[in-house]
Parts: sequence; structure tokens; C-alpha cells
Amino acid sequence: MRTEPSQPLRVLVTGGAGFLGSHLCERLLEAGHDVLCVDNFYTGTRANVAPLLAHPRFELLRHDITFPLYVEVDRIFNLACPASPRHYQLDPVQTTKTSVHGAINLLGLAKRLHAPILQASTSEVYGDPAQHPQTEDYWGHVNPIGPRACYDEGKRCAETLFADYRRQHGLDTRIARIFNTYGPRMQPADGRVVSNFIVAALRGEPLTIQGDGWQTRAFCFVSDTVDGLVRLMDLPDSCPGPVNIGNPAEFTVAELAALVHEILGRPVRVVRQTLPADDPKQRCPDIAAARGKLGWEPKIELRDGLTRTISYFKARLTGG
Ligand code: NAD
Ligand code: UDP
Ligand code: UDP
Repeated sequence: MRTEPSQPLRVLVTGGAGFLGSHLCERLLEAGHDVLCVDNFYTGTRANVAPLLAHPRFELLRHDITFPLYVEVDRIFNLACPASPRHYQLDPVQTTKTSVHGAINLLGLAKRLHAPILQASTSEVYGDPAQHPQTEDYWGHVNPIGPRACYDEGKRCAETLFADYRRQHGLDTRIARIFNTYGPRMQPADGRVVSNFIVAALRGEPLTIQGDGWQTRAFCFVSDTVDGLVRLMDLPDSCPGPVNIGNPAEFTVAELAALVHEILGRPVRVVRQTLPADDPKQRCPDIAAARGKLGWEPKIELRDGLTRTISYFKARLTGG
């Protein structure tokens, strides 16, 4: 059963100036909490949280979580980590440090404060999955030395640390395995497929399909993902296992391109590029655990979410 906290809490959101983090900060403020947003602005921006800066219960701290952090809070959401392949592969060593050193520091903080801590993990822990759809008990199929490993293995090691701090120190840890999430405030140039397709289409440029376009992803609108994260943290009972948070409607990349085309109602050209190394061929969450434990499932269909995201990028690209 889900319950709302009766008292306002002091909530730390690392990576709070990023795409998902800024929406989460907003949601937590709306729920009446005090929010401390910590970010080193590697991929996040002050602009993402600009509307929150004047809020009396919002605080922004520039800090890199690979260094220790001493603050006083009641709950911790750890979202700090670049998430798009283009960004996390730019400085792969820093990506692993952020996942691993960052997790150790935040778990140390949670341990000192006896605070629940939630890890933003990822469907990438399943790698290029041999089981489909992916359930939480699937151990994954990850290349440990490939170009995606800094992210995949970093996130896997973070999950290990969360599980061990729980077993060894009795911490209240929660792990959300987030599947591809999209929506307003994605960076136009961060390289993820939804933003790439929309931005290219709006600029009249061709959409780049990598590989044959038959690879699949399951796209979850940001408000649904944030709702899942909040519900997982709000669970009154302990939740030892990871929980998939994603939209189980699966699309090929070619279908996504066709849908962007259809919504925009104008001709869209497509060019082909080689599929990057280790690019997962299929991905789709089994969300039975989220349905059962959190009473959660996504509400926004891809067509609706894309329409909202296109409106956001239209305004952003025209300076509106
Ligand atoms: P994002 O890149 O927009 O946000 C990440 C934020 O973390 C940025 O604001 C960045 O500046 C900050 N950051 C990076 N390294 C840091 C460090 N060392 N110290 C402090 N701040 C740091 O990405 P996002 O899509 O908002 O993803 C947020 C989290 O959710 C990430 O942990 C990501 O792995 C996870 N996730 C996201 C998705 C998705 O589809 N968006 C899917 C799975 C998991
Ligand atoms: N840590 C932190 N903030 C705190 C408490 C700990 O950043 O409020 C960091 C600390 O630097 C340490 C890490 O968390 O390196 C792990 O802490 P833990 O107590 O688990 O281990 P130890 O201090 O024994 O290494
Ligand atoms: N992709 C694509 N064109 C692009 C960007 C990505 O065809 O402009 C493909 C990419 O190869 C992958 C899928 O879209 O198969 C999702 O890529 P994204 O980077 O958004 O996320 P991830 O691979 O991390 O799920």
C-alpha cells in the first residue's frame, strides 16, 4: 500500500538539474517537501531548475558526488549520472566514478542519517538482453569492456553497493530500474533517439536511423517515470529487490520515426547509419512488480507523450 508522508521532509535529489531530476524536484516541491538539489552541471543546467530557484523550499548546490557530501536530509534520490550514450561515453572513467564513488558517498550519507535512499538504476543493467521482456530476476547480458560498459557496469556495481549496504549495514535502499524515458527538458543535442528525431524533423533535417531500425525500445513519458520513483520511495515497507519502471508498450526505432512523421504531418526523410557497438536489439519491461508493489503503471501513451514533447521542442527551438 502507498501512503503519503504526513510531514514535509527534507529531500536530497542528486542530478536534480538534469532532465528527470528537474521534474522530480518539481514534483517533490508540489508534495510540500523541502528539496536540496545537488548537481555538477555536467549534463544538467541551471535553466532546467530556473523556475524553482525562487521557491522558498528549494535549494541548489553545485557539487560533484564523487566527493563526500555532508548535508542533513530525511530522504535521498540518487539520479546523478549522465544518461545518454553520447554523454556517458565522452568521459567513461568519470561515468564509472560517478556511479560507483558517487554511490559509496551517498550510501555513507544515508547510513549516517539513517535515511532511505533510492538509486536511479537502468534497464541497461540487462545489457543486450537474452530474455524478453525483462523481469527483475533476469541477470542481464552485458559486455564488461565495451563502449557502454562504463554506464552499464557502473550502474550494476551501484546496485551491488546498494544491496550490500542493505545487508551489511541495514540501510533502507530502493532500486528503480528505469527504462527509456522522454519528455520536455531533454537536451536537444544529447543524442537520445526521441530528442534526435524530433529536433531533426523540426529543423527539416533527415532522421538518422542506426542499423536496420528493427531494434526495439519501450518509451515512458517523464511524468509517469517520476510518479513511479515517488511511489517507490513512499512505500512504507522495505523493498529489497529492484523494480522496473517503464512503459511496456514496445516500438521499433523505425516505428518511432514513422510516428514522429505522422504527428508532425509533414514529410520526414530518413538516413541510415551503422548500429553502434553493443546496441541492445530489444528492450521492454515486465512491470508486474511495479503494478503489484506500487500500484503503478504508465498513463501516457507514446503518441500523446510525443505530441507534448514536440510542443516543448518547437517552443525551445524558436526561443519561445
Ligand atoms: P541527465 O543527463 O539529464 O541528468 C543527469 C544529471 O546528473 C545531470 O544534471 C548531470 O549534470 C548530473 N551529474 C552527472 N554527474 C554528476 C556528478 N558526478 N555529480 C553531480 N551531478 C552529476 O539524465 P537523466 O535522463 O535525467 O537521467 C537521470 C538518472 O536516471 C541517471 O542516473 C540515469 O542513469 C537514470 N536513467 C535515466 C533514463 C532515461 O531514459 N532518462 C533511463 C534509465 C536510467
Ligand atoms: N560520506 C559522505 N557523507 C556522510 C557520510 C559519509 O559523503 O555524511 C562518505 C564518506 O566520505 C565515506 C563514504 O561516504 O567515504 C562511505 O561511508 P561509510 O560510512 O560507509 O564508510 P567509511 O567512512 O567507513 O569509509
Ligand atoms: N538511435 C537511432 N538514431 C538516433 C539515436 C538513436 O536510430 O539518432 C537508436 C539507437 O541506436 C538505439 C535506440 O535508437 O538502438 C535508442 O537509443 P538511445 O540513445 O535513445 O537510448 P539507449 O540505446 O540507451 O536505449
